[in-house]
Amino acid sequence: MSNFILDASAIEAVYFSESKNSDITDYLTAIEIAKSSQWLYMGELSEILSRLLLVDKEAYKLNSNDTCDTSDHLKELSDTYNWLASLPGDVTDYSDKDSLAGALSNASIRLGDNSVVVTIDSDRLSRGEPFVDFQMALGKINKYQIDFFDLKTQQNRIRSRLETALHTVLHHGRYVMGPEVEELEKSLAQYVDVEYSIAVSNGTDALMIAMMAIGIEPGDEIITTPFTFMATIEMITALGAKPVYVDIDPRTFNIDTGMIEQAITTNSRAILPVNLYGQCADMDCISEIASRNGLYVIEDAAQSFGATYKNRFSCSLGDIACTSFYPTKPLGAYGDAGACFTHDPEIANVMRQIRDHGQDRRYHHVRAGVNGRMDSLQAAVLLAKLEVFDDELEKRNQVAGRYTELIEESKSGGVILPYVEDHNTSSWAQYTIQVAERESVQNRIAACEIPTMVHYPSTTYRQPVALQEGIEFLNSERASEAVLSLPMHPYLGSEQQKSIINSLLVAIKD
Ligand SMILES: *Cc1c(COP(=O)(O)O)cnc(C)c1O
Repeated sequence: MSNFILDASAIEAVYFSESKNSDITDYLTAIEIAKSSQWLYMGELSEILSRLLLVDKEAYKLNSNDTCDTSDHLKELSDTYNWLASLPGDVTDYSDKDSLAGALSNASIRLGDNSVVVTIDSDRLSRGEPFVDFQMALGKINKYQIDFFDLKTQQNRIRSRLETALHTVLHHGRYVMGPEVEELEKSLAQYVDVEYSIAVSNGTDALMIAMMAIGIEPGDEIITTPFTFMATIEMITALGAKPVYVDIDPRTFNIDTGMIEQAITTNSRAILPVNLYGQCADMDCISEIASRNGLYVIEDAAQSFGATYKNRFSCSLGDIACTSFYPTKPLGAYGDAGACFTHDPEIANVMRQIRDHGQDRRYHHVRAGVNGRMDSLQAAVLLAKLEVFDDELEKRNQVAGRYTELIEESKSGGVILPYVEDHNTSSWAQYTIQVAERESVQNRIAACEIPTMVHYPSTTYRQPVALQEGIEFLNSERASEAVLSLPMHPYLGSEQQKSIINSLLVAIKD
């Protein structure tokens, strides 16, 4: 993605000669189509405002006593452009008579490879790149790019809240389990409507902590599915326990509840359903089987934060729920993070202790623990993202709905659509279809520069580290051969979706 910083002279030109100068109109039109990011540098704030006020005076022939409204300008600018924070290190050459030019140049390096500073100031232009005029900038706009995930658009949307929160942590200095973590735990618990939320270091640790909390030990059996991300299985085996597999329902990819009972033995301790791609498993049915057999239920809700099952939120449905805030999950941090949830005060207390080396108070270790704490920076990011999360869920649902509509309209028989049960809403961690000859379909789509992914290409019992020979679950095997995830994020436009589906349909026909 390209980034364009408009300096004060450029922004004045945009306002002043918008309709007269064809270089500027061409640039603005291209930017609009490509949806490239335009930035203003905070270090030029006063220069920008004073230039715009001068433009106003000329345009409206105001006399010098009239006051122009700075706040209107500021609002208008903030709606159209992203503000790029100026940092103390931006000015490096104090002898430069235009030291702001040096600062702009350094700020553009911070934005990344494809960043330029658009200007009409001839002195700045004579410095060469990153300074470019409107015509040169036009040549740098990438027409079109489709990303599998898009974290940039969201970041721009919440940038001021985000940067303020990060700076607050920088300054208060409580970097691990600081005040943001406690605030996040409250917000998360409230969001999914459970009593206790325990913020942890990542989704994998969340599973480990949950299983340690119910005392899983060598020889125990955990009932789960083999069609999941390896983390689910990894933590079972790390504790010396054994994953006992139940096949998936081929429509939802979640555990087939009709097959659970026959997998229960005297060693069974828990059922660990995985809410794959953002849709909950049939949790009422699972809880009923579990309570009849004296088993715990642990929800692997790493992909389903925000999803609902019979109007209740994922993460509130088992004895314990574990979720992940890996950056590309529906709610993602800027690094690793996760959380455990429970309604049970005793289990909550134990999980809190395990998270922090099994301590009940400082340097007093009452049980085996781990270092599973969350960073304050990640909590700060998550709090900022939580504010737009409902809107993003709605957008994910619209994106999923549009995909389904486009594929249905095509009447192509070659695609099996995702299926969401009537009593569920998905958080659409993935939009995953099934196709025959997946590899060649995927390659043909990739040739159109459209990224797709396979979640997951192998059942877990075939993975070398957790090999279980002599078993085979047909629905899981078939799914691992046919599933294909299309780009999915809240900011995917309908035009982009059309071109994705067109490439898919062509790829299937060839
Ligand atoms: C992502 C994921 C995990 C692990 O979460 P991390 O935060 O990456 O450790 C566990 N289970 C499933 C199903 C996942 O998708």
